[in-house]
Amino acid sequence: MPPEQTLDPDDWDAFRAAAHDMLDAAITQIQTAKDGRVWSPLPDDQKAAFQAPLPATGTNVDDQLKALMPYGVGNTHPRFFGWVHGSGTPSNMIADIAASAMNANLGGRDHGAIYVEQQVVAWCRDIFGFPEDSSGLVVSGTSIATLIALKAARDRLSDYAGRETGPASGLVGYTSTQTHSCVARTFDILGLGSNALRRIPVNADFEMDCTALRAAIAADRAAGFTPFTIIGTAGSVNVGAVDDLNTLADIAAEEDLWLHVDGAFGAPAVLSDTQRPRLAGIERVDSLAFDFHKWLHVTYDAGMVMIRSEDVHRRTFSERPDYLKGTDRGLAAGGAWPTEFGPELSRGFRALKVWSQLATHGTEKLGQLITQNCNQASYLADLVDAAPDLERLAPVKMQICCFRFAPGGVSEERMDALTDEIVIQLQIQGIAAPSTTLVNGTNAIRVNITNHRTRTSDLDVLVQAIQDIGHTLNEGT
Ligand SMILES: *Cc1c(COP(=O)(O)O)cnc(C)c1O
Repeated sequence: MPPEQTLDPDDWDAFRAAAHDMLDAAITQIQTAKDGRVWSPLPDDQKAAFQAPLPATGTNVDDQLKALMPYGVGNTHPRFFGWVHGSGTPSNMIADIAASAMNANLGGRDHGAIYVEQQVVAWCRDIFGFPEDSSGLVVSGTSIATLIALKAARDRLSDYAGRETGPASGLVGYTSTQTHSCVARTFDILGLGSNALRRIPVNADFEMDCTALRAAIAADRAAGFTPFTIIGTAGSVNVGAVDDLNTLADIAAEEDLWLHVDGAFGAPAVLSDTQRPRLAGIERVDSLAFDFHKWLHVTYDAGMVMIRSEDVHRRTFSERPDYLKGTDRGLAAGGAWPTEFGPELSRGFRALKVWSQLATHGTEKLGQLITQNCNQASYLADLVDAAPDLERLAPVKMQICCFRFAPGGVSEERMDALTDEIVIQLQIQGIAAPSTTLVNGTNAIRVNITNHRTRTSDLDVLVQAIQDIGHTLNEGT
């Protein structure tokens, strides 16, 4: 027999020293995240190093890891304003180390990690005012949370027979034109087809037009379709709009429809004193999807699905084959297993970093930081409104400000091109990283502030750079 091997280190003291060294490098990385460029593309030599042949024998990779660390997307920098990214916390690094050491599988069974996830679910019930018999599951993000929630909506309709026979034909659902693309993708994955998702127009504040919604439901019923769900948005990606959740809940009750809300970044704004009133009605929904990795700054990835009825949730996914049989004592004990509430069996310990974030920083401070970002977006809106060469393109209700460089005497087409080029220049020059979107068909610089490191001075830098780059580009033509 050859000598027996293991993947553990031969020299634990050397491993310990190397690990401490890596922790120091990681802390330095995050401590200095606010200095220097926002985003830098990965240098060519590093790209080449990541195209190396598959190694048959191992080597120490610590130097390669350290060299990689500065080349993130930039979301740890205070002037990262693109899409909707959270900025992370140093404290979450510690939770990740503990989770990695435990290497827990949260598919089920009776062990410490399961109790941590149950605590996270209970805390989320408190945060959103959900009932005691509601359930939740920590997932990778809002996309998968939406899938889990709408599968529950679909399966409840057939009293779960559809789990075996497939979905009935003619099922339709409703959302606004501002909805995130993950909703249509969910309709596709659930076998309903993305055409079964009706897109209801919005009002001037980009909120779903509830009169149009009622009319669409009536028209579909008259045409023989079966409406089954309304998907509201609490924080739209384009401009941060929040649908009128109480009215949506009223309509859902009258029409006997499942109300789901996509609150990917917006739902946690219930922790903000200034934003909470806008989310009134969120406690009435049948299901809610949101992210911890956006406005609660948990390290990627971590999101959540909450379902009002644990019974519905479990019946949507539960099946316990012989080899996963529960017991009343021993390791296989412990009530319902998480695998009965979602599509995955093996599940990592995301719940630990979520629990740690809430426990370490507390809901008050997390809420204050959300308020701070909203105030910063208002500050930016004021800067834009005061500048003769900038034009705001949407109301600022939350943390998103959409505007453009509009020096006057320039065609719409030219301004659209300038918008794209200004944003690319800001990114390439490492000054800031906003993204772009279309607002009522107009190309906009979109600044999203879900960043606890941002200071108002960063917004001054951003606006000055947009004006400088804009005029340089414009005069260069
Ligand atoms: C980010 C986002 C999603 C998708 O969430 P993931 O966590 O990326 O899967 C859905 N809806 C909205 C409004 C979002 O901002």
